[in-house]
Parts: sequence; structure tokens; C-alpha cells
Amino acid sequence: MRIAIRAETSRDFRPLIGDVSVGLSTGTSGQRGLFLATPRERRLWAAIMLGRYWPELWRRQRIAFFMRADNALYRGLSNPLVRFAFFDLLAPLDAQMPRLAELAPSVLIAPARVLAMLAERQAAGRIRLAPRRVISVAETLSPEDAALIEAAFGLRVDQVYQATEGVLAMTCHAGSLHLNERWLRIDREVIDPATGAFCPIIHDFTRESLPILNYRLNDVLIPDPRPCPCGCASQRLARIEGREDDMLWWAAAAGPRMVPSEAIRTAIACLPQSLRDYRIIQRGRVLHLWLDGAAPGAEAALRASLAALAGQMGAVLPELAFHAGLPPETDAKRRRIRVEPAALPPAAHP
Ligand SMILES: [Zn+2]
Repeated sequence: MRIAIRAETSRDFRPLIGDVSVGLSTGTSGQRGLFLATPRERRLWAAIMLGRYWPELWRRQRIAFFMRADNALYRGLSNPLVRFAFFDLLAPLDAQMPRLAELAPSVLIAPARVLAMLAERQAAGRIRLAPRRVISVAETLSPEDAALIEAAFGLRVDQVYQATEGVLAMTCHAGSLHLNERWLRIDREVIDPATGAFCPIIHDFTRESLPILNYRLNDVLIPDPRPCPCGCASQRLARIEGREDDMLWWAAAAGPRMVPSEAIRTAIACLPQSLRDYRIIQRGRVLHLWLDGAAPGAEAALRASLAALAGQMGAVLPELAFHAGLPPETDAKRRRIRVEPAALPPAAHP
């Protein structure tokens, strides 16, 4: 832990313990943890990643990797055919644009919100990148951000859903997200039978440095029962819904019902005129809706469609409070649809 913290403060991520790399993780639960990897584990990870995401085998690749912290694990991607460049998320983004342009990455890897910021710069003509792959990591990729990124770079966004506990899911050649059941055993704790939403309980028998056994994550995954055209038998996921603490629950006669964020996004997308942006935040029993750039009538239309949604679910629509613009926010990871945990009523969880 001392080495990991020193690396974070000095931004020198080279020190190891013997040949074991050490990283600090904030974890999906927000609890501080250590990320360890032996040389064998690092090679295995690099092999899985390069095997899946190398754009063209016969060409050298240049990888731009935006992360909060560098790690020997990621540098394991480097080899004579790959130039790997770490971009520090703690440094100002615009100051790093000249170095990014000079690298001209063929593979761009970053958290979803950073990819969205790069996409905005690309769309505005401020940068001109031509990546062959764009991979979203470290946080949930919302459909809005995915559309923005795909339009700006003209290709599909891949997703690697990785935590301290390992690679949990990644997109296949057909573009579907699959649980990484080739490498992990993943049990499921279903939290909402109606959607099949579950929290994964993982066991990783490939790890020696940091055994992961019977470990429950608080990410909520929505399964997709359809087989995937890629032929992979690992569980296909409709999406990663987000953290368990971020789920909206509405009261219903048979107990609280989880509200799929997808249903709320659809209600927003079906408004007669589109919004610039929005936030939907449940605080206690009140659902606060910030509608940025809303046309007259948007509130009434949204109220009607959310009431219809509650009706379909057999749930009670919470009290709605509409606001103009967006709430003040500092954390780039803030989600458009979320719960403010402090205000979560004790009865809201099943
Ligand atoms: Zn597939």
C-alpha cells in the first residue's frame, strides 16, 4: 500500500515489489484496494487484450492510454510492434493534445467521459485522429456518449469492463458485450427478477498474486438471453447498468421495482424536441429532473411518459421536481441518471 500511494503522489509508476506490480484501486465499491500482478499475470492480460483488440496483425500499432494511474500491467502491452503511451488523467487534457497528435494513435483507450471529450474536440476539428480502434474502459459507457464517440471517429466503440478484480466483460467481434467466462467463474446474485439484473460474484483461478474467490461486486449487469452471432458461449450482456448504489427503485405493491435507466433514457429520447443534456437524480422520495435546453412542453411530456412507465411497471411514480440547466458537478464520473446515496430511504432496497 505504501508503494502504491507513493506512486500515486509522485506519478512515478515504475516501482515493483520484486517482480510484482502494484497499483492502487478505488474499486467498484469505492473502497481502497491494491492491485497486484505477477509477470505471468501481466503477460496473460496483455495476450488477452492484444489477441482481442489488435486492429491489423501485419501493422505496427500506437496505443494512447488515458488513465488515472499507469501500471506495469499496461506497459506489458508494449513490444517491438506496439508503441504504448500513457496519458495522465490528472494532467489537463488540452495540454496533452499536441503529444496525442504527434503519437497519432491507431488504438485509443480511455474512460467513456474522456472519449466523449476527445470526440467533441474531433467533431469541432480541434484534433484530427484516425484510430482503428476506440476502447472505452473504467466506467459505464452511456448510449449518448457511445453515439457521440462513434459519430466523431466513424467506428464502433469497444468496451473493456475491468476492475481490480480482473477483466469482467469485453465486447466481441460482433460488438456484443460478453462476461469474461473464458477466464473467470462468475456467479450471479439476481437483484431484480423482472429484468434479470444481477450483481456478479467472481472467482478467478488464474490469479496467484491476489486470489479472487467468491467476491461480490456491486455493479449491476443486465443479461441478454439471445445467443450472439460471434458464437461465444459466455453470457451476453445487454448492458452494464451501473453501480448498485446508483439504481433507481420505485415503490410498488409487490415490493420496490428497479427502474432500468434505459427506460428513462428512452422517455428522454422520445421528447418532441431533443435536450442539450440532462440529469435525473433521485433524492429520497423526490425525483429531480434537470432538463438543459428544454423546449416548452418538455416537462409535461416527460411527466406523462414517466407516469406511463410507472404504470407499466405497476410502480408508483415518485414526486417529480423539474429544474432548468444542470446541477453543479465536479466529478467527471457523474452519471446522468443516479441516486444521491445519502438520501436513499432505508426501504428502497429489496
Ligand atoms: Zn459475441
